[in-house]
Amino acid sequence: MSDVINVEEIFASKVFTRAMMKERLPKSIYKEVVSVMDKGGELSLEAADVVAKEMKDWAVENGATHYTHWFQPLTGITAEKHDSFVSHPDENGKMIMEFSGKELIKGEPDASSFPSGGLRATFEARGYTAWDITSPAFLKEDATGVILCIPTAFCSYKGEALDKKTPLLRSMEAISEQAVRIVRLFGNTGATKVVASVGPEQEYFLVDREKYLKRPDLIYAGRTLFGAPAPKGQEMEDHYFGTIRERIGAYMKDLNIELWKLGVTAKTQHNEVAPAQHELAPIYETANIAVDHNQLVMETMKKVAGRHGMTCLLHEKPFAGVNGSGKHNNWSLTTDNGVNLLDPGDTPNENIQFLLVLACMIKAVDIHADLLRQSASDVGNDHRLGANEAPPAIISIFLGEQLEDVVKQLVETGEAAHVLQGGKLATGVSTLPDFEKDATDRNRTSPFAFTGNKFEFRMVGSADSIASPNTILNAIVAEAFCEAADVLEKADDFELAVHDLIKKYLTDHQRIIFNGNGYAPEWVAEAERRGLPNIKSMVEAVDTLTTEKSVKLFEKFGIFTRAELESREEVLYETYAKSINIEALTMIDMASKQIIPAVIKYSRSLADTVIAVKEAGADASVTADLLQELSEKLSEMKAALARLKEVEKKAGTIADAKEQAFYYKDVVRKAMDELRAPADEAEMLVDKKVWPIPTYGDLIFEV
Ligand code: ADP
Ligand code: MG
Repeated sequence: MSDVINVEEIFASKVFTRAMMKERLPKSIYKEVVSVMDKGGELSLEAADVVAKEMKDWAVENGATHYTHWFQPLTGITAEKHDSFVSHPDENGKMIMEFSGKELIKGEPDASSFPSGGLRATFEARGYTAWDITSPAFLKEDATGVILCIPTAFCSYKGEALDKKTPLLRSMEAISEQAVRIVRLFGNTGATKVVASVGPEQEYFLVDREKYLKRPDLIYAGRTLFGAPAPKGQEMEDHYFGTIRERIGAYMKDLNIELWKLGVTAKTQHNEVAPAQHELAPIYETANIAVDHNQLVMETMKKVAGRHGMTCLLHEKPFAGVNGSGKHNNWSLTTDNGVNLLDPGDTPNENIQFLLVLACMIKAVDIHADLLRQSASDVGNDHRLGANEAPPAIISIFLGEQLEDVVKQLVETGEAAHVLQGGKLATGVSTLPDFEKDATDRNRTSPFAFTGNKFEFRMVGSADSIASPNTILNAIVAEAFCEAADVLEKADDFELAVHDLIKKYLTDHQRIIFNGNGYAPEWVAEAERRGLPNIKSMVEAVDTLTTEKSVKLFEKFGIFTRAELESREEVLYETYAKSINIEALTMIDMASKQIIPAVIKYSRSLADTVIAVKEAGADASVTADLLQELSEKLSEMKAALARLKEVEKKAGTIADAKEQAFYYKDVVRKAMDELRAPADEAEMLVDKKVWPIPTYGDLIFEV
């Protein structure tokens, strides 16, 4: 077998691409499909039938036996229910594989077991899946065979969104509509839509599968719940961008090939800061496709790891004391005639448009910092945000020196009004320097950074779907654009009005700009002085979804109804409670069945040693001391275990979802920490041969 990989040949070989449709569909049908893809609307049933048949034939030619409406329920991962193409045999017993337009466009999985946060009672369990025609169908191959996957939205009988895709698609329409109003003001009459583009950088850990299987905490919780630090951590900074080891290299190669086949533009790969940590970045694409593809990236990472005798950990904090994983969500807006709204450009005219866009973004992020924070929260991310390895939990914007200086000038000496009277935007605006990309250093501590021609939202958790952060980004910026357009469309003197508006927005919202070190304790105090929210945990972020300000925003643009928002709150509280409960039960299990027995066993051998040494007439005091120390840890563990059992039980009796989630956060998690501490100390005292689970050193240095 040749080792040459023909990327061009394999790329998207498992995707029913536009090119494939063009090749296979009658011209008129293809035109209809493209029109719906680009401009919206509904596919006629007649066209859908033709598309379905061609899609099915293509899938069957590629070995498919089943199809599925692939959707993204509120669990944050994807769901699928397979149906085969098998149909009723004819009178001769011959069976023809079938797939109709109706089946393509709409599905009805029973799906009553997905979290709906009260949107749907079991007796009205109907949930519908509807084809997202803008995200191409693809083939997934695993032990069940080849499955045709049709990316879909998932709604209730009454049309309420039960998934993450529907609100995202709604938000994309909202921002497109409002952004078009903005570019029109600047004379861009050719643009008919504006697309939000997203490029998510995905971090992950790889551990040896054999060792993983010996750690119930990794199996059930995806992170270690016990474990003393290894003698070496990441302090040597020798892993970041380090040479990729053979085993990992083989994995990355295989992963890339699988992703390329699925049409995912896996582009960059490197070792990350922590040992055993790596990163993959694709090339950016339309937001909803980027969201779908990020799900495929996460899924494929796990699948391919198995083939290489490893397990991929996507948890935000698999190991205490070493860096956790996140996702950098790169986001920008581009018109369908090719203008990136976040590109400072090099003509003054475009600079004004850019400055208005920038001012709107600053305003949006300041007003809705709480929502952005919420969109990046999940159970695992609580271990990272604000813990000096990831951005702080406080939202701020990093602009870089040059841009910050421009903003400062505009705010301070913005008396450009008198210059404007001269009919020229000469001062304060037109003499602005052309922004050089990367003119300033990177700021790795900022949660929201301007990086040349895009914003990079760096708070997102590694295991989380990126649907929510992008839905929120689109929504809040749409609102700011809408408010700006409302003013500017009515202005008698546009140039004066736009200048005033930029100055006003920047002045009113400059508190959100911060170029300094986000890890410094002074920033926390400074942010508080500025009145910026510091939401420390996931559960504290949940009710930002239903503040009056949020409901107004989402209802105005038809992105979420109040009921949909309330349902999401419910699901978030439940998810938090369930996750911590699993962690607590896992700890109880491991402590009771593995760690405490191991400590007792080792104590026994120490006791035997003490007796034997004494009998031999020698000094047994060192061993006796060790035994004593271990006994103390044992009793601490026993007490902490009893306490954890007690609070875990109590948690289960709390009926109110919010109250329960807070109890898990404030009480159960504390009890978990209190059990972990003596166990980790005991690990340092016990013979490694007796310790029942692989250690941190085994897990992260011996992959
Ligand atoms: P950085 O090194 O600044 O993180 P990269 O060029 O490596 O930037 O890109 C990181 C991610 O950002 C990639 O997924 C890339 O495709 C994406 N990206 C680049 N330009 C844009 C853009 N205009 N809009 C959205 N994402 C982008
Ligand atoms: Mg980056």
